Amino acid sequence: MLNNAAEGNVMIDETAKRRGVMLVFCAPSGAGKTTITRQLLEKDNQISLSVSATTRPARPGEDEGVHYFFKSVEGFKHMIADDELLEWAEVYGNYYGTPRQPVEDALSSGHDVLFDIDWQGARQLREKAGDDVVSIFVLPPSSAELERRLRDRGQDEDDVIMKRMAKAGAEISHWAEFDYVLINDDLDRCLASVEHIIGAERLKRDRQQQLPTFVKKLLTE
Ligand code: 5GP
Repeated sequence: MLNNAAEGNVMIDETAKRRGVMLVFCAPSGAGKTTITRQLLEKDNQISLSVSATTRPARPGEDEGVHYFFKSVEGFKHMIADDELLEWAEVYGNYYGTPRQPVEDALSSGHDVLFDIDWQGARQLREKAGDDVVSIFVLPPSSAELERRLRDRGQDEDDVIMKRMAKAGAEISHWAEFDYVLINDDLDRCLASVEHIIGAERLKRDRQQQLPTFVKKLLTE
């Protein structure tokens, strides 16, 4: 539970009507996660995206503070030392991490936060935030389809595609650590499933912080 600042966890404002959900999305690249999460963010204004810090250079079209906070290795290590990161991991030779403060602010105001992170980050969030985390793993419908999607992305040589397939396999091997697992064979259906999951999770008793007061009033009126 995210209620113990002394243990480095996130404080939840007790006055918030609903406790925000930490929505952790993982998938191998090519599974369609980016499309799903982008559409979800467009449709649902109660969800905000956690913008990670990274030491990898910006790609064309990526903006500071929108896609990532781009850091030097030294700057990133300072963030770790100052306990500014909720989780961090080394992914393919670069550091990636989740800044703590924006997450605390969003959750305490009853907003859900979406995390597009790898399995290592998901594991750390689960350890730190327990019941506040809802984790979803997205699988491609088949390895042939995954390969087709990875090939479609560009003009890469076969050996690059094979490396991406191997990385995808490594990520997929963690599927069983997640609360929900979706097979993305149809984008609309997958998105609808995600919306059902979020709808149900928001209704969980412990997330409805107004319930004790509401029921007390109900019984005394
Ligand atoms: P990319 O460099 O392609 O944007 O991301 C590479 C990988 O790093 C992806 O699997 C992505 O989910 C993961 N990633 C991005 N941000 C974070 C983060 O804050 N923490 C962790 N643990 N992984 C992240």
